[in-house]
Amino acid sequence: MARKMLIDGEANKATNDERYDFDLFVIGAGSGGVRASRFSTQFGAKVGMCELPFHPVSSEVLGGVGGTCVLRGCVPKKICVYGASFGPELEDARSFGWELNENVDFNWKKLLQKKTEEIVRLNGIYKRMLANAGVKLFEGEGKVVGPNEVEVTQLDGTKLSYSTKHILIATGSRAQRPPIPGQELGITSDEALSLEELPKSVVILGGGYIAVEFASIWRGMGATVNLCFRKELPLRGFDDEMRAVVARNLEGRGIHVHAQTTLSELVKTDNGIKVRTDHGEEIMADAVLFATGRAPNTKRLNLDAVGVEIDEVGAIKVDEYSRTTIPSIWAIGDVTNRMNLTPVALMEGSLFAKTVFGGEPSKPDYNNIPYAVFCIPPLSVVGLSEEQAVEQAKGDIHVYTSSFNPMKNTISGRQEKTVMKLVVDGATDKVLGASMCGPDAPEIIQGIAVALKCGATKAQFDSTVGIHPSAAEEFVTMRSVTRTISCGKPRTNL
Ligand code: NDP
Repeated sequence: MARKMLIDGEANKATNDERYDFDLFVIGAGSGGVRASRFSTQFGAKVGMCELPFHPVSSEVLGGVGGTCVLRGCVPKKICVYGASFGPELEDARSFGWELNENVDFNWKKLLQKKTEEIVRLNGIYKRMLANAGVKLFEGEGKVVGPNEVEVTQLDGTKLSYSTKHILIATGSRAQRPPIPGQELGITSDEALSLEELPKSVVILGGGYIAVEFASIWRGMGATVNLCFRKELPLRGFDDEMRAVVARNLEGRGIHVHAQTTLSELVKTDNGIKVRTDHGEEIMADAVLFATGRAPNTKRLNLDAVGVEIDEVGAIKVDEYSRTTIPSIWAIGDVTNRMNLTPVALMEGSLFAKTVFGGEPSKPDYNNIPYAVFCIPPLSVVGLSEEQAVEQAKGDIHVYTSSFNPMKNTISGRQEKTVMKLVVDGATDKVLGASMCGPDAPEIIQGIAVALKCGATKAQFDSTVGIHPSAAEEFVTMRSVTRTISCGKPRTNL
C-alpha cells in the first residue's frame, strides 16, 4: 500500500522506462548525491548526474565532485585539526622526556599543499567510483525545467537537456555572511581552508560547530584568536553543561572568548582589519571568519517555476521519504535542512534509492544519531541532552557525570579535565543520552551510540567490563547519581 503510494504503483526495481533518457537524474555530487546515485544503479537504474566544476572555494558556479564534506568541510577541517593538535602535544611531550631543543616552527603552506593534494585525490576517487557504478556524470550547473526534465549548463555555456523519470536534488548548502558594514572583508570556512598565509590574529564570529572548530585550529597553529558569539555559551542546542566545558577548554587553550558579543563593523586599515564589536571594543585582525550558519543551495534551481516548495530559509520541503511537493522530484542532505551532517545525507541517499528503485519504502531514522564537534579537545554526543530529556520526561531523570584528569595530563601537567555524562530514564533505566568532551570523544561515542540504538539500560552499562587504563572505561563505572530531576526540579545533588 505504502509502496504504491510512493512509487506510483511500480512493483519494485528500476524499470528503465524507454520514454526517458534516465531513470534518475541527480543534481549535486556531494556525499548524499553520490551515495544515492551509486545505490540506485545497484538496483538497476540508469542514472545521470551533474556537478559544478572543481574548486576548493565554492560559489554559485564552482563546486566539485565530493561536495562540501570532502572538498571544503569535514575532510580538510579534520586534516587541519590534526595539524593544529601537534603544537600543544609537542609542549606536553616535554614532560614525557622529549627534549625539543631547536625551534619548532609550523609551516602552513606545507599543510595547505598536502590538504589540496588530498582533496584532489579524493575528488578523483569519487569520479572513478561514479564511473565504475555506471553513473553518467556531466560537469555543469543543473536546473530543474519540469517534473521530468533537467537542464545542465556547461562551462562554455552549452545547454544540455535530459528527460528523467525521477529527479534528486542534493545541492547542499553554502556559508552565509551577516549583513554588517565591511562584511566583504571577512571570509567564510571555504576561504579559511585555502588561505595563502596563516593569519597571526583572527576574529571569529559565531558560536556553532565551525566557529569553535576554527578557533581551535588557528589557536593550535599559534594564532591569537578572538571568538565572539551572541549567547552566553557556544554551541546552542548542545547539553548546557557540556557547552560550559567547551567554553572553559577554549579559554584554557588561550582563545579569547567574547560571550554575548557580536560584530558591528569591519574596517580595512594599513595594519589589517579593524573589528568593532557591539560593545564598542576594537580588535585588530589579519582575518575575520564568519561562521554564522549555512543556507541551502536552492536559489538557481528554478524550483518555484516547477512547483517544488521551499521553506522560509530556502530549504526544500520533503516528506518522510525525501519526496518534494512534486511526486517525481526528491531531495536529500543539507538542501533539505533536516539534520545537516554527512552521515545523515548518506543515510537519506541510501534510503531514497531503496524506496524509489529497491521496491522497499524506507524512512530515515533520526533517533540516536551521534555527532561531534572537532574543537580541541573534541565534544561528542548521542541521544538526548539533559535539557531535552527533562523536557520530554514524565518521571525522574537521573544524571551521571564524571569529571577527571586524563592520565596523560597527570604527567604533562595540562589543566584540562575530561567530562562525561549519561542521562538515564528513572522509570525504565534506559540510557537516553551520552556526552563526552575530551581526547578521542568521537571515537568513544561512536561505540556508545550502538548501545543506545539497541536501547541499553544503565544496568547494562554497569555490567560491562571496562578497558583499563582508558578514559572510555568511565562510561561503565559511573556508579553514583549526580542529580535526579523530577518535574523539572533538582531533587538530589550529591
Ligand atoms: P551553526 O548553525 O552551527 O552556528 C551558527 C552560529 O552563528 C550560531 O552560533 C549563531 O548564533 C551564529 N549566528 C548566526 N547568525 C548570526 C549573526 N547575524 N550574527 C552573529 N552570529 C550569528 O553553523 P555553522 O556555520 O557553524 O555550521 C553550519 C552547519 O554545518 C552546522 O549546523 C552543522 O550542521 C554543519 N557542520 C557540522 C560539523 C560537524 O559535524 N563536526 C562541522 C561543521 C559544520 P546563535 O546561536 O546566537 O543563533
